[in-house]
Amino acid sequence: MKATCWHGKADVRVENVPDPKILNSRDCIVRITSTAICGSDLHLYDAYVPTMISGDILGHEFMGEVVEVGRDVKRLKVGDRVVVPFTISCGRCYFCEREEYSLCENTNPNAGMAETMFGHSPCGIYGYSHLTGGYAGGQAEYARVPFADIGPIKIESDLPDDKVLFLSDIFPTGWMAAENCNIQPGDTVAIWGCGPVGLFAMKSAWMLGAGRVIAIDRVPERLRKAREDCNAETIDYSQTSVLMALKEMTGGRGPDSCMDAVGMEAHGHGLVGIYDKLKQTMRLETERPIALREAIIACRNGGTVSVPGVYGGLADKIPVGAFMNKGLTFRTGQTHMQRYLRPLLERVQKGEIDPSFVITHHLPLDDAPRGYKMFRDKQDECIKVVLKP
Ligand code: NAD
Ligand code: ZN
Ligand code: ZN
Repeated sequence: MKATCWHGKADVRVENVPDPKILNSRDCIVRITSTAICGSDLHLYDAYVPTMISGDILGHEFMGEVVEVGRDVKRLKVGDRVVVPFTISCGRCYFCEREEYSLCENTNPNAGMAETMFGHSPCGIYGYSHLTGGYAGGQAEYARVPFADIGPIKIESDLPDDKVLFLSDIFPTGWMAAENCNIQPGDTVAIWGCGPVGLFAMKSAWMLGAGRVIAIDRVPERLRKAREDCNAETIDYSQTSVLMALKEMTGGRGPDSCMDAVGMEAHGHGLVGIYDKLKQTMRLETERPIALREAIIACRNGGTVSVPGVYGGLADKIPVGAFMNKGLTFRTGQTHMQRYLRPLLERVQKGEIDPSFVITHHLPLDDAPRGYKMFRDKQDECIKVVLKP
């Protein structure tokens, strides 16, 4: 089959690789009909996530048709149309029983590696380095899906792929990030990053009762999308001091919750930006936590900081004094995907949201290398790329 393979920094290639096989009686094989490139894939593309090996198959947002099932799979049969969530979870362990699926204790065969870095391991993730299991990803023609009864959600309506594909990651991720903001009716939510995750978080914040959504970015078409599609007020951080603007917009008090939907590759401005870029390049810190710092400083006393943005290791100069003295609450995590699949699919079916609003490009799978570059460099007003195998 054809698959998108990682070969190093900014080097992905679509290659012929062996077809996936059922390895365990609870696996299924999916023939992929649509798959997307995520902001998280950019951290691999830019080589900020360790433990990638040349030839690894990328991709964790995918859907398609079940073409083979292991003998112990009960819920799925050949021919079913499914969306596959990016977290691989067993459904039976301590954390799965608490619906904290991204913390599953049974699906990362390389848990030891993650424990060295984090103390404990998260779950296995498709196409996301050997630190989270080294599973082959879904930017390919086929994928092996372990624990087939726990992850994939069946799509029984005739909704097109574009409307359901993002149940695989960014819609639940934006939703959980908004839920983590502990929004009370009428609250002001400020969101750093108008990429796909930030945009879904804005829509989710409204659905969860926000009274005001403020979006921060510098890319004109993304700010426009935040305004026009997500009803947000916007701040262009390349033109304005974000901290001053937020204070002014909230009568001095600050937003009730602040969300970092940017993660480890935030662009810095001024001296601090140069400092982070330098330290990250020299591998003295693994992140550029510019949005996180601003979110902590901007947040009102007693407010909540929600962090869907991905971080991988150690960050510098986190204003922990502000965090403590302002009595902030901090919530984060890889999304507990399986918890949200059914309720969010229902919202799509009822027409409360059309997730295809983020898509700017459809490309054939063969064009994945162009898709990665275009998405990272925001060329051609690219916001979200869907690949068609
Ligand atoms: P993206 O790269 O398309 O979007 C990031 C946006 O942040 C860009 O529009 C960029 O211009 C903006 N930005 C950069 N620096 C900024 C700054 N200093 N202030 C404000 N905005 C800034 O990515 P995405 O797909 O939207 O993903 C966003 C983050 O969410 C990534 O870190 C990704 O890894 C993460 N993510 C997490 C989960 C999870 O389970 N927690 C799931 C999916 C994605
Ligand atoms: Zn993702
Ligand atoms: Zn589990």
